[in-house]
Amino acid sequence: MKVAQYLDAARTLPLIFREELTGGEPFVILSPHPDDETLGLGGLIAQARRAGQEVHVVVMTDGAGSHPNSIEYPREILVDLRKAEVRIAGEILGMDATCVHHLDLPDTQAPSEGPAFDEAVSVVSELIRSVGAKHLFVTWDQDPHCDHKAAADLAAAVRHGRSDIRLWAYPIWGWHLDPDDHLPGEPRGYRLDIRPERVVKDKAIAAHASQMSSLIGDDPTGFRFTQETLAPFLGPYEYVFEVEP
Ligand SMILES: [Zn+2]
Repeated sequence: MKVAQYLDAARTLPLIFREELTGGEPFVILSPHPDDETLGLGGLIAQARRAGQEVHVVVMTDGAGSHPNSIEYPREILVDLRKAEVRIAGEILGMDATCVHHLDLPDTQAPSEGPAFDEAVSVVSELIRSVGAKHLFVTWDQDPHCDHKAAADLAAAVRHGRSDIRLWAYPIWGWHLDPDDHLPGEPRGYRLDIRPERVVKDKAIAAHASQMSSLIGDDPTGFRFTQETLAPFLGPYEYVFEVEP
């Protein structure tokens, strides 16, 4: 199916309520970078927290790749900044800082195999076990970004052999795939109405100031969201695709 057609179909997926999507139980979100969780599922997080539901976010990479040449924000300062941003965004969405976890893998180099990957699988598996989560959310494996694909691999490995865990994918960079490219199959999943959470989600997105503003102004190669790249995350719905075992 053409990407344009696929994403159009995604935009009209059936609606689902949070309780049905998550079973009202604790759930875990895997976020390749500090901001994907807010962009893709900030509304779901806010809804769940308001209902007293336990939400854990696992940030896979350190986020140091967004501004590699900044003098004012060298690597360690940038990593600390991005950790602070994801913590503050989480607090805006109602999360406790202790529910934001970091794997500290290197940005743009999250592994899909090897000892660091196995270690990440075991950390996330243990978290899921300890909080009793039955739902795991991760970025879409069709997102054209190596860390997002690695996150999808990690989630698949965590779910392997756990028929009691449901795995859901939330698209980020996939919204910006070339409309003329092709994708396998057709989208299966749901959309969640987040209109009541829109204001709080916008605030949480803005808390990722290093990615959304000119805060870091001394790296011409630095990353920054534009109106166009941010647009898919500013609408009334969030989208999840069911990942089959
Ligand atoms: Zn990302």
